[in-house]
Amino acid sequence: MTVINGKGVYGAVAMGRISVFKRSDTSVKRIHIEDKEAEKARLEAAKEVSVEQLRVIYDKALKEVGEANAQIFEIHMMMIDDDDYNESINSIIDTQSVNAEYAVAVTADNFAEMFSSMDDAYMQARAADVKDISNRIISNLSSGGENVSDSDEKVIICADDLAPSETVLLDKNKVLAFVTAFGSSNSHTAILARNMNIPAVIGAGEELLKAVKDGMEAAVDGYTGEVFLEPDKETAAALAKKQADDLEKKRLLQELKGKENVTIDGKKINIYANIGSVDNIGAVLASDAGGIGLFRSEFLYLESSNYPTEEQQFSAYKKVLESMAGKKVIIRTLDIGADKQADYFELAKEENPALGLRAIRICLTRPEIFRTQLRALYRASAFGELGIMFPMITSEKEVEKCLEMCDNVKRELTSEGTPFSDSVEIGIMIETPAAAVISDRLAPLVDFFSVGTNDLTQYTLACDRQNAAIEQFVDTHHEAVLRLIQMAADNAHKNGAWIGICGELAADTALTETFLRMGIDELSVSPTFVLRVRDAVRKTDLSK
Ligand code: PEP
Ligand code: MG
Repeated sequence: MTVINGKGVYGAVAMGRISVFKRSDTSVKRIHIEDKEAEKARLEAAKEVSVEQLRVIYDKALKEVGEANAQIFEIHMMMIDDDDYNESINSIIDTQSVNAEYAVAVTADNFAEMFSSMDDAYMQARAADVKDISNRIISNLSSGGENVSDSDEKVIICADDLAPSETVLLDKNKVLAFVTAFGSSNSHTAILARNMNIPAVIGAGEELLKAVKDGMEAAVDGYTGEVFLEPDKETAAALAKKQADDLEKKRLLQELKGKENVTIDGKKINIYANIGSVDNIGAVLASDAGGIGLFRSEFLYLESSNYPTEEQQFSAYKKVLESMAGKKVIIRTLDIGADKQADYFELAKEENPALGLRAIRICLTRPEIFRTQLRALYRASAFGELGIMFPMITSEKEVEKCLEMCDNVKRELTSEGTPFSDSVEIGIMIETPAAAVISDRLAPLVDFFSVGTNDLTQYTLACDRQNAAIEQFVDTHHEAVLRLIQMAADNAHKNGAWIGICGELAADTALTETFLRMGIDELSVSPTFVLRVRDAVRKTDLSK
């Protein structure tokens, strides 16, 4: 048995076999070949496999996200058969006597460049598609087949690190636990693991990558951060008991369903849930949350290979609002950038992306993207109790611009005769020290604040949330962060606004009493923590 230590980011125990996450390496070498016909036959076989894979993905997408979203995979299948595309690849093999991988990569670059230079936005967007299908063909040429296990067995995914876009694309029904060599506990991958309710250990180090093999038996303790490779009998038995105890604790918490979030001395607080996808709604309903305090809408963009259209966004938001049946749903506008990257945004590489063009800065500099999202949000508002909030605010001017965009969209909808609710609450995230410090000026502009403690901590303590090497310097209970939250709470209340916390700190039950004493009105946590926080609230007595 080998024991590897990392940091547990979601407390639960999992036991099963390891699957090493394979990131397709699409860096391609130019290799001289003699037999051109054999190379073309290899290409044809890889194309056939690619079309087969896309058919499977199309069917899955059709069932899970509807026809409009699935259509892109149909387009990909058609692109693989496109005459010009194939002629180019074959002619490069013929004239240069090179390997198929290289011919596909060169063709992809040429076609992507050609599409990007067109005036039409639709054709420009095809650049990402041609790269996508080409990467698929190259990966099938290199691996000789599909990379993903067809088995129904759930596995423990081991990876160097997982980008949020890679995490959302994993088949959640096949994942028992995550273990990554790198990454930090405040990263979006860790947050996703919590949202998905699965044990996760991050920062297990290079040692992990050297030690693990596909199919190896392992046990993951998300409480302690320990990963046991080929666990001995005693360890396996102890962990099985821990797993059973854990289930029992969770079962006991179920008894709190339907009960109020009220302290012993009668103070009430709202407990809402955080989601990243429409698929999380089932977990929210099961958690008995009073609403959704944070819908990270950027995951709609990360799951897609192109900008989601107004219709696609409208149908997702409407579904969430309808499913919540009149309970509050707060949707955060696009928070892309930094660690959440989607290729088709074509964001330039930055030295310090967390301090760069991200979130509201992208929306305000690319108003067409923002307008599409706001139109979808307001149209969906007719189907429930919507709140809209803006991320990464640092100034009054930004809030005023956001409000102006909202007014424009509402005017457009009114003149078209499209219905929308006139009681949509508008809020901003308090994620920067600047926003907390000028919260007296920001509060009169909005209905509510929502404190994003993940970013607020990173910017206040100057500790990159992605950097595992500095975790020892990240004091999540640092007084500077708590004072900023208190300042924002006081200023919100002085101006008739309410304040919630939607960062991961909201679920830290060691701080529940502190937040109640600060006058926080709402805590929004991963669905899996709703009852745990309710339990902490009900055990608190503020009269003492
Ligand atoms: C936060 O920063 O606390 C937050 C909720 O936003 P995200 O984690 O998505 O950056
Ligand atoms: Mg944030």
